[in-house]
This record gives sequence, structure tokens and C-alpha cells, in this order.
Amino acid sequence: ERIFNQEADLNELSFEQSLRPQNLKQYIGQDKVKANLGVYIEAARMREETLDHVLLYGPPGLGKTTLAVIIANEMGVNIRTTSGPAIERPGDLAAILSALEPGDVLFIDEIHRLPRVVEEVLYPAMEDFCLDIVVGKGPEARSIRIDLPPFTLVGATTRAGSLSAPLRDRFGVLSRLEYYTENHLTDIIIRTSRIMDTEMDDQAAAELARRSRGTPRIANRLLRRVRDFAQVRGDGTITAGLADYALELMQVDRLGLDHIDHKLLKGIIEKFRGGPVGLETIAATIGEEAHTIEDVYEPYLLQVGFLQRTPRGRIATQLVYEHFGIVMPE
Ligand code: ADP
Repeated sequence: ERIFNQEADLNELSFEQSLRPQNLKQYIGQDKVKANLGVYIEAARMREETLDHVLLYGPPGLGKTTLAVIIANEMGVNIRTTSGPAIERPGDLAAILSALEPGDVLFIDEIHRLPRVVEEVLYPAMEDFCLDIVVGKGPEARSIRIDLPPFTLVGATTRAGSLSAPLRDRFGVLSRLEYYTENHLTDIIIRTSRIMDTEMDDQAAAELARRSRGTPRIANRLLRRVRDFAQVRGDGTITAGLADYALELMQVDRLGLDHIDHKLLKGIIEKFRGGPVGLETIAATIGEEAHTIEDVYEPYLLQVGFLQRTPRGRIATQLVYEHFGIVMPE
């Protein structure tokens, strides 16, 4: 089973939804982002205006969708949710935009995957709240302007770098989400265990936090699996020992790396003498998509200093050799 898989089944999705904090106060960590957004929201409310468009970026599972919902809640408006790949034609976007109510939040996940022709419809919509639509054909064709209700676009992306400059420039607020500290993750895990009505030791929460790769989605999924073990192999209470036992069985190591991280890192060490080796080559070697490695696996390994990116490819650092107890070649 792939615990860190980005794709979640329906069961996982409804589980995640049940855990979503509903307002900024319940949203744990990301203090800077939260403080700034809080000010912008309050200011917009005082002026009785819509909030400026917001771009949220950072690795998967850090709480971008959750924040979008919170923004709508805090503004007291409705949210409409869609994603870049789901909007194929300009007409699809036009239909979504013209169905918005004044003040609504439109959340577009994976906004870097919007087709270019669709993106161009978004520019005047974001800037002037209008649509330019071409009607008729040939010499009869003319462009008509349709006014839209004012709205707030919240875009989410794992890669701010893949966003076109004209799109990026139209966001008034750019917020980068960071990996969570162990303390914040511990708080998130304790909160989740309360919602699930599960007994857990503080030490167990800390152990899970250490092994969740700085990511609330992973923390919550691991917790759910560990709870299964507690129920079947224990008395229902999650102790540190039980968490450790369960995580071991799930092949999640002391630092939270899973078997795909291992495959990736060991591949670089064993087949390429530690690198440098190109992303595509790594992907082919371990049988994963290059973009999955880039979006899901690599960011954390870079963050904890296991991988380095160089112009000639990825390099496994000394830390990897130490983690695996392998002697680093000269
Ligand atoms: P993203 O959109 O960045 O991939 P989500 O918003 O879907 O991430 O969050 C994934 C899960 O983690 C959700 O179940 C959410 O409840 C939980 N979560 C994310 N951020 C927080 C947070 N700051 N506090 C508590 N739970 C969080």
C-alpha cells in the first residue's frame, strides 16, 4: 500500500473532509500565512469588499484546500471548487464564472495545469470581473463583454514556478505553505485523535509527528492506520510502543521515509554511485512518474537535506549514507 500516494480513494476523502478545520483559529501552524490572511480578510470585511485573489503554493497535503475553505468561511461566502485539469475549454470556465454569486470564492486546485486558452479567459475575469466572448463567425464575429459578479479566486499549486507570469501577477496575495514543525504536527495528531475518539499517549503523538514528513495529510493517514493496529493488536489505546510497531510494519522508517523514498535513495546510491543523476533516469529506474517524484517525494528529501539538486542532476548526500549505514564512496 502506498501511504503517501497523492490520490486518495473516496473513503480517504470523506475522512479528510471530516477533519478539516473550519476557521483560522482551528488551523494549526503556518503562523505567518495565517496572520497575514487574517489581516487581509478583516480589512476586506471592514470595507465590505471581496478579498483579493489568493495563490497558495507548497507540497501536497499541507492544507491548501483546507485554507481555501477557511477563507470562504471567514468571509462568510460560499466556495465553488474545481481544478486545473477539469477545465478543458474556455466555455467550461465561462460557465463556472457566470454561475458565481457576488463575493463567492472560486477555488481552482492544481491551477498550474489550466490549459493556456482557458487561462486567457481568467485574466479579464480576475482583473475587471468580466468575460470577453466572441460570438458569430467570420466577418460577422464580434466580441461582447459580460459582467461577472465580484469574486475571489483562490488558486492552489504544488509548483509556483510552473505558473505563467501573467497569471501569477494577477494574484494580490501569494502565500507559501511550509512543512510543519513536529510540535504543530503533534497538535494536529492530538486534534485528529480527539475527533476520532481514540485514546493516545502524548509520546505516541510525538512519535507519529516525527514520522509524518512535516505533512498533516500523512500524519492523519498514519494515525488512522495505527488506530487499526491499536484496535486489533492492543486494547484500543495508541501507545508509543504500538505506534512504533505499526509504523515498522507499514515500512515507515524512523524519519518517516517509506519504501518508495528508500527505493529512490538506494537507487541513486547503488546504481549511480550517489549521483548526480537526472530526474527522468531516476524515474525510469524506480518505475515512478517523474512529476510524482518531483511534486510528492523529492521536496521533503530536499528539505531534510537527503537530496541535493544540481544542474547535472540529483545527488544523495552524506546523510543518506549515514541513514542507511552505508560507507560513502570517495
Ligand atoms: P492540500 O490541499 O494542500 O493538498 P489539504 O487542505 O487537503 O491539503 O489537507 C490535507 C489534510 O490535512 C486535511 O484532512 C486537513 O484536515 C489536514 N490539515 C491540513 N492542514 C491542517 C492544519 N493546519 N491543521 C489541521 N489539519 C490540517
